[in-house]
Amino acid sequence: MATQTYPIEIKPVSESRLRGLDINNVPFGRLFSDHMLVATYDEGSWNPATILPYGKLEMSPSISALHYGQAVFEGMKAYKGPAGEALLFRPQANFERINRSAARLCMPPIPEEIFLDGLRELVRLDANWIPTRPGSALYIRPIYFATDESIGLRPSQEYILAIICCPVGAYYAEPVKLTVTREYVRAFPGGTGAAKAAGNYAASLLADRLAKQQGYDNVLWLDGVDQTYIEECGTMNVFFVIDGVVITPPLGGTILPGITRDSIITLLKEQGRPVEERRIALTEILAAHKQGRLQEAFGAGTAATIAQIETIAIDGVELNLEVTGEGQYGARLLKHLDEIKTGKREDHHGWMMEV
Ligand code: PMP
Repeated sequence: MATQTYPIEIKPVSESRLRGLDINNVPFGRLFSDHMLVATYDEGSWNPATILPYGKLEMSPSISALHYGQAVFEGMKAYKGPAGEALLFRPQANFERINRSAARLCMPPIPEEIFLDGLRELVRLDANWIPTRPGSALYIRPIYFATDESIGLRPSQEYILAIICCPVGAYYAEPVKLTVTREYVRAFPGGTGAAKAAGNYAASLLADRLAKQQGYDNVLWLDGVDQTYIEECGTMNVFFVIDGVVITPPLGGTILPGITRDSIITLLKEQGRPVEERRIALTEILAAHKQGRLQEAFGAGTAATIAQIETIAIDGVELNLEVTGEGQYGARLLKHLDEIKTGKREDHHGWMMEV
């Protein structure tokens, strides 16, 4: 059987909406670039993708994604290199992760040609939408969801993959304050915590709202079995530095395998720094803080790259952490990663894809 190919059809806008816009000064996630990619799956196979002007999708209220949440997504960023070239950071890793998320939700895999070639064409076309101010980027959001017009509960037979883009500024300019929640969990063994499933985020909103009402930026999530161990913070993976050792919770089905997390671990190992992926009990953090051994903590994810943590509230007690120390891991890693992403540092891992 011949391998199927997926030529991409491009229907460009007649006039860009960029004119008159200051993309270095935009609210997060509300302004979308000129084009989007749309590909559909039906009758057991994918149809070639189309890149067309950003706009509305027409669909029926019976589509199963709306009822049962058979929907996954991704998040990644494009940056401008020194010669003005458009660079994507580790898109292959996002491609692999969306297909792992899809498998968990009984969705068919997306062909690499549709996802990666489509992404390349889309970002090439909208490269002028990549902001250049430090800390800013073009955020790329692939969404993949079930479109069967049926309210019967079963894996859908039809799907849409869409990729949209928005220029974004620095996400967390300030260090973040976290609070532990005892009432809600993000994930549990056997659940969907390791998948970037839309429903995970809906389920996290209430705890997040309560945290914000109490004056915190994000929740520090504990494990879903007996709430002993730290898992993630907000929508970031979490790192602690105790006695000079960088520690992060291990992946094990309940934690999203972050691409920033993986990049940080890779860089630290190469630099010969002590880094451990192991369970971290809340009591260990409390004790290390009390003994003056907790040197710093930071969150890691695509949106912020690295967000230094200044406060952790645990059952009414606030731990305050150093956020500006000379040579802190967070600041050093942020600089290192930013230099790779913007082409200022040699990319010997082959992480950057020029479009
Ligand atoms: N955890 C959760 C729950 C997330 O939503 C994200 C953002 N994708 C991350 C961690 C960080 O992952 P990444 O570094 O791939 O953005």
